[in-house]
Amino acid sequence: MSKGSCLCGAVEYEIDPSGGSFQYCHCTRCRKTSGTAHAANLVVPSAQFTWLRGEASVRQYTHASAKRFCNAFCTECGSKLPWRSRDGRWMIVTAGTLDDDPGLRPVRSIFASSGAPWYQEPATMPAFETLPPRGD
Ligand SMILES: [Zn+2]
Ligand SMILES: [Zn+2]
Repeated sequence: MSKGSCLCGAVEYEIDPSGGSFQYCHCTRCRKTSGTAHAANLVVPSAQFTWLRGEASVRQYTHASAKRFCNAFCTECGSKLPWRSRDGRWMIVTAGTLDDDPGLRPVRSIFASSGAPWYQEPATMPAFETLPPRGD
């Protein structure tokens, strides 16, 4: 089992990640709602997901022209949170809100053709443990 929460802590959830499908999504909707290059979505059957607290603080925005996409977020802190597929079968878990290692790793990127033109593979850039040294 893995637990997740929003930034302010009002919302907590638990998932059984086993058998989940883990991927990065570069679609324009995920880019807009995450504010970054791509979403990291871990998809599990609905039965493997439980809200532990704060479900009443989760608001969902359903985009008019989207068949599948939904944006769920904490009304207190704005963290992007898991959402249920329209048919009710799946939970799309925003992996950045997990508080521990689900033991799975992303296996693919989807909607790569919609990717931000400025996207750069992290492995091609220097990485610092925290902030870079002064003057950098
Ligand atoms: Zn919150
Ligand atoms: Zn997407």
